[in-house]
Amino acid sequence: MEKFDLIVIGSGPGGYVAAIRAAQLGYKTAIVEKYNTLGGTCTNVGCIPTKALLDSTHQYAEALTKFNKHGIEIQKMALNQQQMYRRKEEVVQKTTQGLTFLMKKNDITTFQGIAHFTSNTTLTVTSSTGVLTQLEADKIIIATGSKPATLPGITVDKKRIITSTEALTLVEQPKSILIIGGGVIGVEMASIFNRMGTEVTILEYAPTLLATMDTELGKTLQKLLKKEQINILLEQSVYAVENLGEQARVKFKDKQGVEHQLDADYVLLAVGRRPYTEGLGLENTEVTLDEKGYIKTNAHLQTQAGNIYAIGDVIGGAMLAHKAEEEAVFVIEIINGQKPHIHYNRIPSVVYTWPEIASVGATEQELIQQNITYTIGKFPFSANARARASMDTEGFAKVLVDPQYGEILGVHIIGARAADLIAQAVVALEYEVTAKDMFSISYAHPTFAEVLKEAYRLAGGYPAINI
Ligand code: FAD
Ligand code: NAD
Repeated sequence: MEKFDLIVIGSGPGGYVAAIRAAQLGYKTAIVEKYNTLGGTCTNVGCIPTKALLDSTHQYAEALTKFNKHGIEIQKMALNQQQMYRRKEEVVQKTTQGLTFLMKKNDITTFQGIAHFTSNTTLTVTSSTGVLTQLEADKIIIATGSKPATLPGITVDKKRIITSTEALTLVEQPKSILIIGGGVIGVEMASIFNRMGTEVTILEYAPTLLATMDTELGKTLQKLLKKEQINILLEQSVYAVENLGEQARVKFKDKQGVEHQLDADYVLLAVGRRPYTEGLGLENTEVTLDEKGYIKTNAHLQTQAGNIYAIGDVIGGAMLAHKAEEEAVFVIEIINGQKPHIHYNRIPSVVYTWPEIASVGATEQELIQQNITYTIGKFPFSANARARASMDTEGFAKVLVDPQYGEILGVHIIGARAADLIAQAVVALEYEVTAKDMFSISYAHPTFAEVLKEAYRLAGGYPAINI
């Protein structure tokens, strides 16, 4: 039995960050990962490969639609899907190799295999070659993440009925794809396939895309994706999917209960993700689950078994890599007797469509529901010089502000580079900076960030300069 101060199960953004922080604080640390590479969902089949493909297809779309206007003439342009996917694999590989390096650099012992609890403090690890190792630790962090959810009665056969994981390795470009779910995965995957020339249909249950974000974002995205020929059907409830051999068929009902069906080469299920605890042997511990299968934790992310903690997708909340990372640092510092904190409502969300979408803090719908009064400052990218220079004039930044103290309550952006712009809004919310403070500082010109400066002006009750 090999003994450690701390063992982390799972090497996604939650697990590997926890292991590194623990090692930095002097704990003898091990990490156990079921797969042959480190990095979890995010690095292997999530954030990283999707962003690689979103970037490649974005460049292709730009070349097709904007290069002429720039005065760049390309006589013959073709998409080499195999090369595009090879590059994506290289990006993933470099990232997983980087993580292996970081484990070594921090003296973290890595075990490849499935971790299975035998008690609150002991584990067996069964490697893919069948080697069994027994481990013991004072503290154990569960960071086993999530898997794609399915719908009742619908089986993912990984042939015609697939999830985002299989979509990332399709060897040939489908002629058509039906995506069930217009959430984050749905719209990112729709963008990738549509830009490659696949006929894309999104079927979504809610009345807007990206239903959990400020509704103006989803509505604006819907218009932009429609313009790019993505077929979007809202308020549709999918109840059956069949593999027809060469194609798959989706059956769904509209709001009035009328039944419809559509066929496509592939059906991609993107209806959320579920916590992953299978094979962990939690029955041998005091760890408990809630009714949806998430591991139950207290405010210190500690489970019912006092020495076992859980972080990331497996405990629920926003299923985001950076949320898992925040929890990783938090939990190790708690174990270390420090006093860290996480402001969950100041964790940003980003959707990597083009234009990008990014959000932090309260949505208008949440403020209305909570009877909180607010003022809005909204500024369009079309009135921004930098946006005009690169023909990225779609979208807006919207800032929601408390009228009494000027505190910023929420920032919602759809527009070029929103993913990077949101970082300064997170600072504003975290440190309760006012809208006036935010526009009273200098912004480089011409930059996309000036859209935010103008939105802060408007939200603070000052007229915009450039409109
Ligand atoms: P995971 O990353 O899921 O890692 C868990 C690890 O635990 C896995 O490697 C698994 O093999 C391992 N494991 C499970 N059980 C065991 C066991 N018994 N023994 C050993 N190992 C085990 N989030 C973002 O913030 N930005 C994005 O752009 C983004 N894009 C995404 C795109 C897609 C297509 C998907 C599916 C997700 C995306 N996400 C994104 C979400 C993000 O991937 C997750 O929120 C994040 O990976 C959660 O991290 P985690 O550490 O909790 O778990
Ligand atoms: P999601 O919860 O964002 O969206 C799922 C959608 O499916 C919802 O809009 C829901 O209304 C719809 N749906 C459910 N049942 C349906 C039915 N029967 N018929 C039609 N529509 C139905 O989940 P997701 O898009 O699968 O993403 C999973 C998680 O991964 C998310 O929590 C997200 O945070 C994370 N993720 C993040 C990023 C990012 O940060 N850029 C990218 C991808 C995934």
